[in-house]
Amino acid sequence: MNTPLEILEKYWSYESFRPMQEEIINSALSGYDTLALLPTGGGKSVCFQIPALIREGVCIVVSPLIALMKDQVETLRNKNIKALAVHSGMTKNEIDIALDNAVYGDYKFLYISPERLHNEMLKVRVAQMKINYLVVDEAHCISQWGYDFRPSYLSIKEFKEIIGDVPIIALTATATPLVAEDIMNQLGFKKPNQIKSGFERPNISYVVRNVEDKNGQILKIAHSVPGSGIIYVRERKRAEELAAFLLSQGIDAEAYHAGFNSLERSKKQDAWKKGETRVIVSTNAFGMGIDKSDVRFVCHYDLPESVEAYFQEAGRAGRDQERAYAVLLWNRTDISRLRQITNLTFPKIDYIKDIYQKLFIYLGLAYGSGKGDVIKFNLADFAKNMKLHTLSAYHAIKYIQTEGYWYLTEDIDNPSRIMFTVNRDELYKIQLKSTSLDSFIKVILRIYTGLFSAFVPIDEEYIARVSRNSKASVASNLILLSRMHIINYIPSVRSPLLILNEERLDNKNLFISTKKYEERKNTYQTRIDGIISYVSDNEECRSIQLLKYFGQDNSPECGFCDVCIEYRKAGDGRSYEYEIERKLIELLALAPRSLNEISVLMEDETDTYIHILRDLIDREGVKVENELYSLVT
Ligand code: ADP
Ligand code: MG
Repeated sequence: MNTPLEILEKYWSYESFRPMQEEIINSALSGYDTLALLPTGGGKSVCFQIPALIREGVCIVVSPLIALMKDQVETLRNKNIKALAVHSGMTKNEIDIALDNAVYGDYKFLYISPERLHNEMLKVRVAQMKINYLVVDEAHCISQWGYDFRPSYLSIKEFKEIIGDVPIIALTATATPLVAEDIMNQLGFKKPNQIKSGFERPNISYVVRNVEDKNGQILKIAHSVPGSGIIYVRERKRAEELAAFLLSQGIDAEAYHAGFNSLERSKKQDAWKKGETRVIVSTNAFGMGIDKSDVRFVCHYDLPESVEAYFQEAGRAGRDQERAYAVLLWNRTDISRLRQITNLTFPKIDYIKDIYQKLFIYLGLAYGSGKGDVIKFNLADFAKNMKLHTLSAYHAIKYIQTEGYWYLTEDIDNPSRIMFTVNRDELYKIQLKSTSLDSFIKVILRIYTGLFSAFVPIDEEYIARVSRNSKASVASNLILLSRMHIINYIPSVRSPLLILNEERLDNKNLFISTKKYEERKNTYQTRIDGIISYVSDNEECRSIQLLKYFGQDNSPECGFCDVCIEYRKAGDGRSYEYEIERKLIELLALAPRSLNEISVLMEDETDTYIHILRDLIDREGVKVENELYSLVT
């Protein structure tokens, strides 16, 4: 059997472990329920992937973002490790086939998005699997006290009962001690073991600036810090304006936010990753799962909503361990704006209930219906149709989600997929009337493999190019074949999906707890207070402040944040004078001197010695006789 290090070398080609990785892997191999706390980019994935490769069986991974999940599956497949995913972007049929493969196909990793954990078929199938670990990535999502609570994560508890006694590996980059405790409780850790690396990032200079002219400040940073940067803003519009401003000032910048389509986004992301675009100006849609090591600065143009979010985003700077800057800009207006955001995030309960009913009306679903439905959902259209303020409606929908009634996914970018519903022999027996359809099938079989056993992502445009057809005729051929029950064709979608966990309730039965509402709102408020106190405290080293927030006490001063640098400037001023005084006393201790001699021997261009000398005479430490200065002994 291979050791963890051999596996790391074999599949990842890395020579050594990063801090704490090996400890986490060993803890999992020894059968502990392990909570791993490593900073963003610290290399959490291999901490569960390696034990899972060593132990027999399949590893189940719960992860919050479908896009991230697809990325990881892709990365594993590129290493020839069998992995697959089950998420809301897939049809029922697709999920069935994927699970079938997981049971019989010798898979090592099965990624599941949390809102799919109730799936009945899944429950049946996992009971047939030999599971080696249950992994909970971004585990802070399970805690109500965390900054990114996702109620769907609570289904993990129920899911655990089905799979029985399997060691758990929970991982996160941001957990206060309270949240860490809550994670272990919620997941029912039996043999708990918490492993934590230091969260200090000694190469990052944290800087907080209270400024009115933020654009000017950003420009200064972009001019004085060479290399790639990220600027975070709260609103899409601001992202575009600021990118345009920077461009007009000769800084190579691009805007990025969820309003661009997936093609545009991945183009922008790639250009920035390759260094073709220097600065990306983005909403917080950017960053999760992006792995670029030489980011030299991360600026926040607006105040983030929590220290957790700030620490994650700022932490994307300087993963290569070289000097990097994390700059947070703020002024008074931001603080009152942040307070308003609390009210926007927590609409009144009556409004929330109203949105609940309006959404069902919009979907055309009567009381008692809708349970289990998965529906493409366009928020802007809903708001327009029902004459609602989009953002308020969005937060109401999100609030109802925290109560578990439904679940709204992120934008899902899913390519088209096909699979043959007949087997190879049957396919050859089918007499196709048209020869063009026949050659079309041949083209598809030439381009793609595995079409008889699983859904395979396809690209209509590419098929069109190879088969010298138009894209429209490729699509119509695919539809035709699917009508003939030869293939199963799922056209691509790009939309968030709304998953209804419960049937539509009338207002009498729709329960939204006022107590929980108040609790959640208070927690949110406390987090906002946390970030406000971070920017307002100019006395304590920034790094110490951040680390304390995450429960790490007694850390040393970083020496490079704005607070440390201010102190050093002040401190250096004092010590220079001290040095001069010392030198002066030494000089006069040897012999009485004239002012001229002193001036030459002191070599003090700042003439500080004159003030010190006068001061010493005042204090009667030095006396003057016949224009010669000497020590009073
Ligand atoms: P996290 O989930 O903690 O944010 P990832 O697991 O995504 O971080 O890893 C970040 C990057 O670090 C990945 O590119 C990963 O391959 C790399 N990495 C992980 N472990 C090591 C190691 N021991 N040596 C070098 N690079 C590593
Ligand atoms: Mg990760």
